[in-house]
Amino acid sequence: MQRYTHYIDGARSEPASQTWLSSDNPFTGAPWAEIARGNAADVEGAVAAAHRAFTTGAWPALSASARGQLLVRLADRIAEHAPRLAEIEVRDNGKLFAEMHAQLQYVPQWYRYYGGLADKIQGDVIPLDKKGYFNFTRREPLGVVAIITPWNSPLMLLAWKLAPALAAGCTVVIKPSEFTSASTLELVELLADVGFPNGVVNVVTGLGAEVGSPLVGHELVRKVTFTGSDATGRRINEQAARDFKHVALELGGKSPNIIFDDANLDDAVNGAVSGIFAATGQTCIAGSRLLVQAGVHDEVVKRVVELAKMARMGNPMDAGTQVGPITTRPQFEKVLEYISIASGEGAELALGGQAAKRPECGDGWFVEPTIFTGVDNGMRIAQEEVFGPVLSVIRFETEDEAVEIANDVRYGLGAGVWTRDIGRAFRMSERIQAGTVWVNTYRAVSYLSPFGGYKDSGLGRENGIDAIQEYLQTKSVWINTGAATGNPFVLK
Ligand code: NAD
Repeated sequence: MQRYTHYIDGARSEPASQTWLSSDNPFTGAPWAEIARGNAADVEGAVAAAHRAFTTGAWPALSASARGQLLVRLADRIAEHAPRLAEIEVRDNGKLFAEMHAQLQYVPQWYRYYGGLADKIQGDVIPLDKKGYFNFTRREPLGVVAIITPWNSPLMLLAWKLAPALAAGCTVVIKPSEFTSASTLELVELLADVGFPNGVVNVVTGLGAEVGSPLVGHELVRKVTFTGSDATGRRINEQAARDFKHVALELGGKSPNIIFDDANLDDAVNGAVSGIFAATGQTCIAGSRLLVQAGVHDEVVKRVVELAKMARMGNPMDAGTQVGPITTRPQFEKVLEYISIASGEGAELALGGQAAKRPECGDGWFVEPTIFTGVDNGMRIAQEEVFGPVLSVIRFETEDEAVEIANDVRYGLGAGVWTRDIGRAFRMSERIQAGTVWVNTYRAVSYLSPFGGYKDSGLGRENGIDAIQEYLQTKSVWINTGAATGNPFVLK
């Protein structure tokens, strides 16, 4: 069995506790690797290394262009290793090789884009309203950044944070999910090859309470950027607030995917299925509430059920597989629990509703694609994030009603709108409270386009040109070019 240590100050580092956690393969249900079980002592070592690298040595001395070049070189190395890294992710999280490989081929773009932005960080000269002063701004890196990631798309979600953090000149300590740490540890091995100084990127693995919490609370950490559940996000936000740390949170969702009577139904049905059954529903942007206008409701339900029924389940490494296992056993149990909650609430089961017993699923943690109809938006199945292949279908009559239902949830991450009416497309994109609205498509992301949540779905934005600002702080510099010093007791 493979054993992974922490990665601190450019070297592999055994855990202070000398204890290990097992990393399990969701397709077989069996462990395939061990990862270091970190604690506060390991966090201390990693933060100290990151702080040293931020304040002394080669990293702060690098020009911004040279820093950007390192990121571009890293992008090339990731591209070379994409199939291997994707395979490791599949072994850890059970998502389809096809999906993880496509993600890994796209991930280098984040490093290229933010590498290109590194030497475009500029201050301003301020046109002051006072004579005798010259005032300009500097955009300076925040310092040591803690990056905490979840298990569903480890390297892609890491790229959204790591690329802009490094481009800004910060140093980092990464705490990957205890369920899927291997790919992050493999990725950081590539950093030294391309010439990143030691200590710029560090990884400490282990549990949230034992590694995540001491990391968030460490006095030398200036920013925490987190992707995960809203429950953990709330805890992190509260803890970080004590030391006035900067915080960015990408949390969960209960995204509405809304089909109007005038939609192209072939596309809409495809979009509905892709919104909830792709990635086995384990994506923050899952379109888990399907809102369907009354005129096409029955037809859409029939077609979505037919398409979902045909989804091929099985080994996520096989090219023909469409729905893989649930990543972790606790998550598998949580999904089944939500199915029974929905049935108890009176939702009507139209498909699935149980663990998959198909021979091709072996001992893996598979749940049948599940569809509930007759869902009322007040039910728990419509309000709480399941993070699995469970779709709630809600009927509506009018555009106003669709907006009301769509927004009547505490989350606001994504939303889909299916219509051929251009006016309605604009109206809906304005009225829906979500960080992303897709019209006649679903689950599209890019390094160029801002991503983040409204309401309980998070704080801050990732991706796009502004995301680099999240790792910078502004300094205002005043130079006296000849103003009289004047009365010392009066504001200048
Ligand atoms: P989680 O909140 O359980 O864990 C996320 C990370 O936080 C893990 O690394 C975990 O070890 C760590 N953690 C746990 N407790 C901590 C603590 N007290 N202090 C610091 N760190 C702690 O989430 P998960 O189950 O791994 O991921 C699934 C969730 O992530 C879903 O809710 C999903 O919607 C969300 N998600 C959001 C996005 C987004 O961009 N908005 C993307 C993917 C996933």
